[in-house]
Amino acid sequence: MSQALADIQSRIAAAEARAGRAPGSVTLVAVSKTQPWEHIAPVLDAGQKVFGENRVQEAMERWGQRREGLELRLIGPLQTNKAREAVAFFDVIETVDREKLARVLAEEIQRSGRAPRLYVQVNTGEEPQKAGIAPGEADTFIAACRQTYGLAVEGLMCIPPFDTDPAPHFAQLRAIAERNGVEKLSMGMSDDFEIAIVEGATSVRVGSALFGSRNYG
Ligand SMILES: *Cc1c(COP(=O)(O)O)cnc(C)c1O
Repeated sequence: MSQALADIQSRIAAAEARAGRAPGSVTLVAVSKTQPWEHIAPVLDAGQKVFGENRVQEAMERWGQRREGLELRLIGPLQTNKAREAVAFFDVIETVDREKLARVLAEEIQRSGRAPRLYVQVNTGEEPQKAGIAPGEADTFIAACRQTYGLAVEGLMCIPPFDTDPAPHFAQLRAIAERNGVEKLSMGMSDDFEIAIVEGATSVRVGSALFGSRNYG
């Protein structure tokens, strides 16, 4: 039993209803990075199946022994030298953002015969410190993923700048998806997931509102 999970689920349902979206059209990705197991266990026990992690190694340590029946998503930046492990371990990689990574993922998918679903991360705020393809390069990059590397792009993902109105960023991500025929939108976190749902999110990535604030140490 997890009261926090029940609360987030009902807030998602309410936002779906307000936005005129079908019930259940938004997937909750529970972001378990850096959380102690005693925060995660009640959410897992309550039936949550989809979890997001920022780091390949940390995710494998946390989930490697209890992976069965779960969907694990990589939502943090991926280095090409970790691509092999990421392809082998994750069901979804949400942070494809450069040609070199697209090429290495394509090679690894070919080699291993295992194909995680892929999202392209867009740096909607064009922040230099943040990962993601620039919005002006997104169309070209999505086309390259598909045509040059033979990758299926399931969705787009963004992390709007801290302390700004996220709605225009979500709207921009949706516009990029629509004009490129991309189906899914991973957008919205603890502080803004309801806004993201109104703007068309198909999955929201919620960490601290579900598990408590993270201790980065
Ligand atoms: C940590 C993280 C989240 C969750 O953030 P909260 O504000 O704790 O909900 C979502 N998405 C990404 C990419 C993250 O790194």
